[in-house]
Amino acid sequence: MRWQGGRESDNVEYSSGGGRGKLIGGGIGTLVIAVIVYLLGGNPEQVLQQAQGPQEEINQTFKKTSEEKDRTDKFVSVILAETEDVWTDLFRQMGREYQKPKLNIFPGTVSSACGFASVATGPFYCPADEKVYLDKSFFEELKIRFAAPGDFANAYVIAHEVGHHVQHLLGTSDKVQRMRETVSKKESNRLSVMLELQADFYAGVWAHYIEKTEKVIEEGDIEAALAAANAIGDDRLQKQASGTVTPDAFTHGTSAQRMYWFKKGYETGDLKQGNTFKQLQEDE
Ligand SMILES: [Zn+2]
Repeated sequence: MRWQGGRESDNVEYSSGGGRGKLIGGGIGTLVIAVIVYLLGGNPEQVLQQAQGPQEEINQTFKKTSEEKDRTDKFVSVILAETEDVWTDLFRQMGREYQKPKLNIFPGTVSSACGFASVATGPFYCPADEKVYLDKSFFEELKIRFAAPGDFANAYVIAHEVGHHVQHLLGTSDKVQRMRETVSKKESNRLSVMLELQADFYAGVWAHYIEKTEKVIEEGDIEAALAAANAIGDDRLQKQASGTVTPDAFTHGTSAQRMYWFKKGYETGDLKQGNTFKQLQEDE
């Protein structure tokens, strides 16, 4: 796929490494500040809420200038920018404003608002701090372990994670999370799968719109992308955090299902077609 020379998003940030525990040091200070703010007639909740975004507290994040970026850095920035453009347009059509997520590239370990993550976690989206997290070695790993090389496969993974951000903004993931708490484990897993398939659909929608502006997708790209997506588990972290999903029971859906929804998004570019929840019920 062609991406060189595209606009680079300025929402990519880098973590310098997971320093767990810094939050403890800042905790008391934050509390004191909150009390002072309260005494001065302000809203202490704001202070506390800011302090609870542990990502900023725990990890040193920084930006890179264009000269400092390597090929992977630039690639990620361009793909993220493409998702920003597509979703800004689509949200505008819905009469809404798209809040762009941050994308954090971390070097092995990181503390997110959703918990501690390592290379083993794989790429994930954290709704609590509205960030997509990618481990630096992820793209290498894709190439070596999952036999899914190629820029499009990597771009697809980013678009899928951004799809989870879209679900967060539209309130879908919250709604599903609430439903999952009240149903059986089996039903809960089914709901997870539907969310995953919808993120695939949204990745397809993204591909639909970038395809319009330039011919980027080549024969075999979609299959490679889905092979990659199947191999990663962006839900492992949520699993750890919530404790509601057991690894053996969890699934992203079959390859066929994932392919179906990605293609549906890709071919139609129509958000109304992305009701994975309804469709799965009808299939049964
Ligand atoms: Zn996912």
